[in-house]
Amino acid sequence: MKRRIPKPDNATLDRVVADAQRGRVLREQGYREQALKLYPWICGRCAREFTRENLRELTVHHRDHDHDNNPADGSNWELLCIYCHDNEHARYVDPSAPGEDRAPAATYQAFGQLADLLKK
Ligand SMILES: [Zn+2]
Ligand SMILES: [Zn+2]
Repeated sequence: MKRRIPKPDNATLDRVVADAQRGRVLREQGYREQALKLYPWICGRCAREFTRENLRELTVHHRDHDHDNNPADGSNWELLCIYCHDNEHARYVDPSAPGEDRAPAATYQAFGQLADLLKK
């Protein structure tokens, strides 16, 4: 009798990935809406004004380039048109983090260890 080798459960994996992506999209919509409520619909660089018709071209930039840093007072957000937003990112060169999307996991860990050390 042949033993069956259990296959990795791809369906579960796909669902986890899909859930994570959906969570990300929801989170982004959340802070975009908040930022649009907090700030006038004007690009922070070229001062272009926006209306409901072209609001798609107004994006939320994170001043510290960390998408996960979303304080409720909006202090890390800046409304930029898509062009100025592109410029802003072209200027920002950090060899260890080529994209804003990359979570600074190493930093979190370091802070966690530091907290542990301080507790002792
Ligand atoms: Zn602009
Ligand atoms: Zn940005």
